[in-house]
Amino acid sequence: MIKKKRWKQATYYSILIILGIIIFLTILNYFLREEFYLNHEEKQALLEFFPEEHLNKINWYNGGVISWGASKIFFNNVYINPRTTPQFANRSSIESQSLLVHETMHTWQSRKGGYIKMDIEALYYQFISFLKYGSRNYAYIYSINQSIDSLNVEQEAELVDDYFSLKYETEEFYIRCIDCENLSIEEIIPIYDIKVKEIFARYD
Ligand SMILES: [Zn+2]
Repeated sequence: MIKKKRWKQATYYSILIILGIIIFLTILNYFLREEFYLNHEEKQALLEFFPEEHLNKINWYNGGVISWGASKIFFNNVYINPRTTPQFANRSSIESQSLLVHETMHTWQSRKGGYIKMDIEALYYQFISFLKYGSRNYAYIYSINQSIDSLNVEQEAELVDDYFSLKYETEEFYIRCIDCENLSIEEIIPIYDIKVKEIFARYD
């Protein structure tokens, strides 16, 4: 009987501690984040892919507890990590806008497929790629010949954000396509046109 009581007490205190940590982090997140609004160029970039009605639902934040480690989304809230994404310092750059395209794609995937499913899938593939290759970044790399159904949520967001860079970046840029090296921009854009359309069709 005494043992049972102790277990009950231990469970009770553990729940209280976990709840306390969650409340503390939520308050900390509130004070550490800085809300920002899209400028005209950023909005135009996103309107190329997403309807205005969807963009109006998104709240944008710089920093905050949720952005620790990497830029992330939390339902319709996008948290940009300024340290892991230094391109955000120059918000008129295509590089910075393509980051917003990537994160907005996650909000779109969540809206259509469910936030929890999207988040678990993203974490799962990042974890697997970390175990396999020692870096979570491999979860983002894709092949242009890969079937649309086999792309994970990160590869999808990356492909859409790469498409934006390919179309508008005039200086040097980096895409996560593993087998695009030998293709010219003229050859590659029509392929991406189709791929991006197919990806969005998955969420119709
Ligand atoms: Zn992502």
